[in-house]
Amino acid sequence: QHLLGRIDRLDGELNSFITVTFDQALAEAEAADAARAKGDAGPLTGLPLALKDIFCTRDVKTSCGSKMLDSFVSPYDATVVERLKAAGTVSLGKTNMDEFAMGSSNENSFFGPVKNPWDLAAVPGGSSGGSAAAVAAGLVPAAMGTDTGGSIRQPAAFCGITGLKPTYGRVSRYGMIAYASSLDQAGPMARSAEDCALLLGAIAGHDLRDSTSVARGVPDYLAELNAPLSGLKIGLPREYFGDGLDPEVEAATRAAIQAFETLGATVREVSLPHTHYAIPAYYVIAPAEASSNLSRYDGVRFGHRCDNPADLIDLYKRSRAEGFGDEVKRRILIGTHTLSEGFFDAYYKKAQQVRRLIRQDFLDAFEEVDVLMGPASPTPAFDLGANKDPVSMYLQDIYTIAVNLAGIPGISVPAGFVGNRPLGLQILGTHFAEAQLLNVAHQFQ
Ligand code: GLN
Repeated sequence: QHLLGRIDRLDGELNSFITVTFDQALAEAEAADAARAKGDAGPLTGLPLALKDIFCTRDVKTSCGSKMLDSFVSPYDATVVERLKAAGTVSLGKTNMDEFAMGSSNENSFFGPVKNPWDLAAVPGGSSGGSAAAVAAGLVPAAMGTDTGGSIRQPAAFCGITGLKPTYGRVSRYGMIAYASSLDQAGPMARSAEDCALLLGAIAGHDLRDSTSVARGVPDYLAELNAPLSGLKIGLPREYFGDGLDPEVEAATRAAIQAFETLGATVREVSLPHTHYAIPAYYVIAPAEASSNLSRYDGVRFGHRCDNPADLIDLYKRSRAEGFGDEVKRRILIGTHTLSEGFFDAYYKKAQQVRRLIRQDFLDAFEEVDVLMGPASPTPAFDLGANKDPVSMYLQDIYTIAVNLAGIPGISVPAGFVGNRPLGLQILGTHFAEAQLLNVAHQFQ
């Protein structure tokens, strides 16, 4: 009730929630109290949190930030939601996001932009901008996000919180509205690595309803948090400290990394030679998958349908023209083009080959070092409305996107400020190294 009151008072300005599920929250809280009274409470029983509006939530509007799904009430729960409910958490609502998770600033939402709680003139980052802002503003202690090319880590960095993108396949994608299926991954956003560890333990694990979820045991992510870092080998990718990196961000990042040396780690430079190709490869692969995934929104089965269609083609055309925003249309056009006959080999196939090289860069680096560190974003949060050109927006993702192409995990932890705008230190590990990332992040915090 305290947090619902805060949301009521503060979220008119921040706009971090699309839907506040007041009644369901009180019912879930009562159930949690009852479990506690019976002695059945687990570590997450009664924990209030929020869910990015990309997670299907039974009997609750699930809009994915789009007019297309503004009227969609999901008949079922995503696996992430089901597992969080089973753990006894209390969802306070669904958070704002870039439409279909396409964006880096939350300005592509049909429901309007979110403001950064640290500086109301700044964006919160995207696409999980609502989740990051809600945690940073103390509206909830934790929220769920998704990360296809940085959408957990970059908004966590911009809002001064901790956000973890797990290994691809670690968390089920069932019921998470698909953007780019080979890249999408859900993860926790919270105030600390310890809180992220608790939440990851609840949502991770194999799910028969997602064929890409990996059948591998879920460790106790809290167990290693206090392991000492002496002997840890940290690599700094040369390509993450080059042109385009804001000098103040670089200075703060290097200062943060120095703190690990005092904890007994060693630091050396490494190279990820194909970094330069990550953005072009991603912006071929992600739109290609998106154009296919979004073909289901045809005005027939889900969401928005135009008024008085003349015939079936008119129904498709107008429903999609009215339901999707500009950035989503741009991606559908790019994806349809790169998948079309005559262009497939030159774009999609080539991008997949480049993807393999990018993955190999990381595997080679992890032969030499345990973790990689660098900035989560080349700049601090920029002003709302300042970044109007799509290509300059895409370039924001330079340090986050390759991680999704490789499928490895990454975490962003708060690492200082430029003025009043927070910065994130990004820590990367090899596949399924979440426990190690959480340990390293926790020792830093
Ligand atoms: N900014 C990237 C994009 O627009 C990443 C978004 C995400 O991770 N969902 O596609």
